[in-house]
Amino acid sequence: MPSQRPFYVTTPIYYISGTPHIGHAYTSIAADVLVRTARAHGEARALTGTDEHGQKVANAAAAAGMTPQEYVDALAPKWRELAPSFDARFDDFIRTTEPRHARACLALFERMRASGDVYEGVYEGWYCTHDETFWPEAKLVDGRCPNPECRRPVQWLSEKNWFFRLSAYEERLRHLFRSNPDFLRPQSRYNEMTAIIDEGLEDFSISRSSFDWGIPLPGGGVLYVWYDALINYISALGWPDDRDGLYARFWPGMHIIGKEIARFHTIIWPAMLWSAGLPIPTRVFAHGWITSESGTKIGKSLGNAMDPFALRDEFGADSLRYFLMREAPFGSDFSISVEKLRQRHNSDLGNDLGNLLRRSLAMLQKYRNGIVPQPTDGAVAERVADLPERVREHIACLRFREALDEIWNVVTMLNRAIDEQKPWELYKHARGVELDALLYDLCEGLRWLSVLLFPFMPRKAGAMWAQLGLDGTPERRWEDELVWGGLATGTQTNPGAPLFPRIDPPAA
Ligand SMILES: [Zn+2]
Repeated sequence: MPSQRPFYVTTPIYYISGTPHIGHAYTSIAADVLVRTARAHGEARALTGTDEHGQKVANAAAAAGMTPQEYVDALAPKWRELAPSFDARFDDFIRTTEPRHARACLALFERMRASGDVYEGVYEGWYCTHDETFWPEAKLVDGRCPNPECRRPVQWLSEKNWFFRLSAYEERLRHLFRSNPDFLRPQSRYNEMTAIIDEGLEDFSISRSSFDWGIPLPGGGVLYVWYDALINYISALGWPDDRDGLYARFWPGMHIIGKEIARFHTIIWPAMLWSAGLPIPTRVFAHGWITSESGTKIGKSLGNAMDPFALRDEFGADSLRYFLMREAPFGSDFSISVEKLRQRHNSDLGNDLGNLLRRSLAMLQKYRNGIVPQPTDGAVAERVADLPERVREHIACLRFREALDEIWNVVTMLNRAIDEQKPWELYKHARGVELDALLYDLCEGLRWLSVLLFPFMPRKAGAMWAQLGLDGTPERRWEDELVWGGLATGTQTNPGAPLFPRIDPPAA
């Protein structure tokens, strides 16, 4: 989005045997807002998918009495449904068990071997199966996995593996971070990663020979699950054959990830790409975690506030999307609760936006038979002239909250115009020119809001568009559509149901 070249954004591929929670919905929604905005300005593509290899999956499959392939095939549909459940529209969904992915992984491995960065060695160390990670003895905590979220027992492994010479890329990574501070945002993650680089980078093993649920290597063993997983971002574009030209058009793109996987995406992945002679991602954004507010009373129908499906059923996908993008700066941790969601739904959406639409169309109905009048002055036009560019810039920099703040300034301004100019008085005193000017500004302002809010709330923006009596959807090129005066005089509006009916807490 910052440039005119085609835009490509990815979510992480989700670990198949997990359960979709609010964090997954959050990542997918953020990527969707970004790509919908990018599509309003040019060519854009979004990718999501599932991470299906590794010993953890093999163990879970065995426990379920299935082959790993049967197991992942059974789980994949619930992840495929995740994004559409929240109206997040991705162009592709990749599973790491697909042949197109294996081909790309082996090609990348061969390229890295040809560049002299992949060598054979013996790995001995403590292995945490849950994290699929080797830990040095010194890092263990009471003989267990040092990951504070894990702390599971580790096992001693000794195997002949392929290693990646990550150490050779230490200087280049240091230079990348220094010369391009925007490569990884927010600043807190950037600081963490530069500290890791400064501690010194060690080569690490990129294959496993102790189990076989992975992409098989010629000569034995399988690729390490993390090595294979990262490659999805280009295998999904058809690299290396690139028969459809997607790789050439869309790579490099940007990655949206959770902060816990920043090291893989900003240290290991760039080094792998450099080793293969390929461009690295333009940018990585590591967002924060969503926590459940302690002490929150949750309605019994809702179960857990971390269950995004229950929240969607209660509030609708659009209200949930709005909440997640508005509640906190993208990048920070924040807490979610049913009360907070209800508050934003009733106040921001119902009272501010929903009422603006309802009041405006009701007055237009009453005073002008629902027909959009002639515009007259340009009072509002001037105030919104550079709004689309500001909103676009905020979204491009993942400042979703700030983008919504800008949009809400218009909502407030239009509501205030009604309160101050009192259309009912204008009507009573037959001040028709002023009344027409105000009614036109309200409808045209709502048309703009519908286009600008489409990336955030596609359904409700579409409903606004329809109530304004417009054809199609508000999915439009901003450049063409956001020209003040675009709403045709004579348009017959079509007021409908309230956009955001009030949601009250369940009776005690
Ligand atoms: Zn662990």
